[in-house]
Amino acid sequence: MESAITVSIDHELLQMIFEGARQLHPRETILLLRGKKKKNHITISELVVPPLANYGQGFAQIRLHMLPMDFSIIGTAHSHPSGNLSPSPADLNHFVGVVLMIVGFPFKDEKSVTIYNRDGEELALQITKT
Ligand SMILES: [Zn+2]
Repeated sequence: MESAITVSIDHELLQMIFEGARQLHPRETILLLRGKKKKNHITISELVVPPLANYGQGFAQIRLHMLPMDFSIIGTAHSHPSGNLSPSPADLNHFVGVVLMIVGFPFKDEKSVTIYNRDGEELALQITKT
């Protein structure tokens, strides 16, 4: 029941991702997401700047073998400066963890973010306010 997975992220954490994406725009930003998976629910709790992140125009890469062996990393977030929120074939081929978050220009509200599983299927994202 992969598609039944829901994901939640705190409003302020999401704003931090948007802010980072705005700063690097028009280059892509990429971040690791730390969190917890309980049954069918994933809670994103923290952002981690990946080691040796290579911010390029068109594709943000991380060297996967350089990633910390850290099982609390549940996925990645990166920006699409074009505003297109669909994952590219490269995004799905370089999948890390269980969720892939894409934030798109103009990086401002819930319409600027989507989250996918390994199959490229969109998951429900709850934005929580604390
Ligand atoms: Zn992408």
